[in-house]
Amino acid sequence: MTSAPRSPAPHERARPLAKGSTYPAKDLCSQCGLCDSRWVAYVRRACAFLNQRFEAMETAAHGRSRDLANEDELYFGVSQRMVTARLRPAIEGAQWSGIVSRIGVRALETGLVDAVLCVQQSPDDRFTPLPVLARTPEQVLAARVNKPTLSPNLEVLEQLPGSGIRRLLAIGVGCQVQALRAVQDTLPLEQLYVLGLPCVDNVSRAGLQTFLESASDSPATVVHYEFMQDFRIHFRHSDGREETVPFFGLDTPKLKNVFAPSCLSCFDYVNGGADLVVGYMGASFGRQWLTVRNPRGQELLDLVETELDLAPVSSRGDRRAAVQQGIDAYDKAIKLPRWLAELVGFIVQRVGPQGLEYGRFSIDSHFTRNALWVRRHHPEKAEDHIPGFAKAIVARYRLPSL
Ligand SMILES: Cc1cc2nc3c(=O)[nH]c(=O)nc-3n(C[C@H](O)[C@H](O)[C@H](O)COP(=O)(O)OP(=O)(O)OC[C@H]3O[C@@H](n4cnc5c(N)ncnc54)[C@H](O)[C@@H]3O)c2cc1C
Repeated sequence: MTSAPRSPAPHERARPLAKGSTYPAKDLCSQCGLCDSRWVAYVRRACAFLNQRFEAMETAAHGRSRDLANEDELYFGVSQRMVTARLRPAIEGAQWSGIVSRIGVRALETGLVDAVLCVQQSPDDRFTPLPVLARTPEQVLAARVNKPTLSPNLEVLEQLPGSGIRRLLAIGVGCQVQALRAVQDTLPLEQLYVLGLPCVDNVSRAGLQTFLESASDSPATVVHYEFMQDFRIHFRHSDGREETVPFFGLDTPKLKNVFAPSCLSCFDYVNGGADLVVGYMGASFGRQWLTVRNPRGQELLDLVETELDLAPVSSRGDRRAAVQQGIDAYDKAIKLPRWLAELVGFIVQRVGPQGLEYGRFSIDSHFTRNALWVRRHHPEKAEDHIPGFAKAIVARYRLPSL
């Protein structure tokens, strides 16, 4: 007796959306690339901006969702270990010390995975992302350093069928990871590892240009920048010069509309679905901050742990008054004169929040701003879209009226 032919799964029947079409999340689309693959078939449940599913995602990935009664988990998500670190020696040209790239390289060298999903840069433009399935250490290293623009990472899922890749390490930001987790069980993979980056305030390529022109004294030569824990933006230029600008001196009236609407409605700053998250904002100045969410995350960290200068996480200061003042100043789009911005920066750097408290400062500032943005621009979505952990954090502050 022959069994009835299996009916094809939705992604086997689907085709990627044509480039330039309207994506289902419309103005909220973060261009994560899912719709540029046949896994667009699942977009209604997978898209971070159409359907928030933190609890289900965390439970499937880590075996439980975050414990809202635990202050660290409320802020930083499910965690079994948190440390700060620097790779020794650092990888030249990496965003920080290159821990992420080193893990990608080691994952290939040890045979843990067959490929690493990461983002190289376009040959014509350092800031235009080019997602790839890297098969060699050189290809992973070519993806080092942030492309601080929306990146269609998941479009390369389209290349998986027939590629021979059975074990994959995917590197990505929260919106990409949320969509990836939602389709994980339908991918032709035996094992998936997810190395996450915290992410906030991303921009389109055009938005990045506006930002660079408003914040740097030489936008054309910027090759690298980061919002650092000393409350300053550090720009590195092509001749090696470092320029720093205080956060508080940014041209808020001009920049308020520069961030992508997806990022203004995002509450996954700390990348809740990744196995291991490598950022910086919970570490003291100059160090990276690692959150291990589950045993797969520890397996990734094991690949490089002996090459790291490790230290425990620490926390100092009290962010709350600064967050409340920032909410009001941002809403009124106040731009401080440079001398005052320098003075505020100088004081905050000395007495302001540090370590995990700096991480909480950044999360509070962005969640309050984003909750307000969603309630103003998409009031019909606000209740379902803002996750419970973010509502609990936002409720600690006085927000301007809608
Ligand atoms: C847009 C963006 C915003 C960020 N914001 C914060 C923040 O607010 N707080 C914080 O603590 N950390 C943030 N990070 C993470 C941080 O800046 C570093 O990327 C991280 O600490 C890793 O540093 P590294 O030296 O180990 O990385 P590297 O070894 O240099 O590797 C960088 C990796 O980033 C990947 N990548 C680059 N651009 C993108 C992109 N657009 N989308 C997805 N993946 C990308 C590359 O594939 C590469 O593997 C952000 C990252 C990005 C991409």
